[in-house]
Amino acid sequence: MNRVRKVDFIIVGQGLAGSCLAMRLLGMGKTVWVMDQPHQNTCSKVAAGLFNPITGMGIVKTWMAEEIFAELFRFFPAMESKLGASFFYPMHLFRPFHNIEEQNNWMAKTADKERNKFVKEVYTSARYPNIHNSFGGIEVNQSGYLDTNAFMGAVRSHLIASDSYTEEEFSPDRLSIHSQSVLYHEVEADKIIFCTGFESLTPYFHWLPIRPLKGETLQISLVERPELIYNKGVYVVPTAEAEIYKAGATYSLTDLSKSTSQAGRQELEEKLTALLKDTYIVKSQEWGIRPTTVDRRPILGPHPEYSNLVIFNGLGTKGVSLAPYFSKQLADWLTEQGEIHKEVNINRFKPLYSRS
Ligand SMILES: Cc1cc2nc3c(=O)[nH]c(=O)nc-3n(C[C@H](O)[C@H](O)[C@H](O)COP(=O)(O)OP(=O)(O)OC[C@H]3O[C@@H](n4cnc5c(N)ncnc54)[C@H](O)[C@@H]3O)c2cc1C
Repeated sequence: MNRVRKVDFIIVGQGLAGSCLAMRLLGMGKTVWVMDQPHQNTCSKVAAGLFNPITGMGIVKTWMAEEIFAELFRFFPAMESKLGASFFYPMHLFRPFHNIEEQNNWMAKTADKERNKFVKEVYTSARYPNIHNSFGGIEVNQSGYLDTNAFMGAVRSHLIASDSYTEEEFSPDRLSIHSQSVLYHEVEADKIIFCTGFESLTPYFHWLPIRPLKGETLQISLVERPELIYNKGVYVVPTAEAEIYKAGATYSLTDLSKSTSQAGRQELEEKLTALLKDTYIVKSQEWGIRPTTVDRRPILGPHPEYSNLVIFNGLGTKGVSLAPYFSKQLADWLTEQGEIHKEVNINRFKPLYSRS
């Protein structure tokens, strides 16, 4: 008796990357089989879910903001309707100026029409009573947060309902690679896509320059519920729980310990004190490790030797904004309807690959 089940694609990992890709492929009428071993503290679970088109110390428009944010605002609301769940919360973000210089710099740049699409208002004096913002600040459009756990939970339920999900650790011993297909234990597919984040890139993709970047966040309670996200060195983002906010994050390339740290807590508390006038209570602390790349771009595409092994990784610090756009690009390529852009294509790292 033939017990082999045939699907179009196997996806390993159901974080933000795997969840978005699975929903894209299903939306194109393809069949998927998703395998995920819920690891502790995966970054999609601990992420605050913030999306913000204006980032960085110099307050610059983020890479490909027009395309990426347009897709983000199409994808997540469509997923809410499809999955019958709520997880997408557009909300303005207020970024106070640090000093008069920053305020002047910003005012000098108000002629930048491209960037100003994302700016609701520029304030030159204090705007919000609960935070330190005496130099004013900018209020950003097209920002907000995704409740990542609610989104991934809804995707998982959807996959389980069609018997397309298994809670299982991927084991290379169970995979046979053929010229036109792959067989994983009893499931055959055209291709297998690895969306495993920073963990388990081995044995096929360990040569890629994915750098782990640890981050820590605090869950805090606030009595006054801000009606928008605050962001100055630290962000304060609502969560599904009333009065509970997520504050983050830290960035460490050196401390990669799998635990929270006193240093992380201290750094966040110092930044919170510089931002908030109201008192807050720390409820808990979390950590996670982001999959970042040397050129800060995601990595998409087939293995140099085995074309039916594919990767979708390197979402770095911006998984929420990048996953909708690049899951579409990868799904289009997987279904022969589009190309993978040079900037994110795995080919850029091909010289690093050797068979040995
Ligand atoms: C503290 C912190 C805060 C962050 N805040 C934000 C934010 O506000 N906004 C934002 O856009 N981004 C944020 N990020 C970044 C964001 O979390 C990542 O870009 C994104 O989650 C990466 O998603 P992923 O699916 O690639 O990886 P992951 O989330 O790591 O998912 C990989 C999945 O694969 C599974 N897996 C791994 N190996 C195997 C295996 N061998 N077999 C089976 N399953 C496996 C894992 O269990 C997991 O479910 C934050 C990250 C951290 C650490």
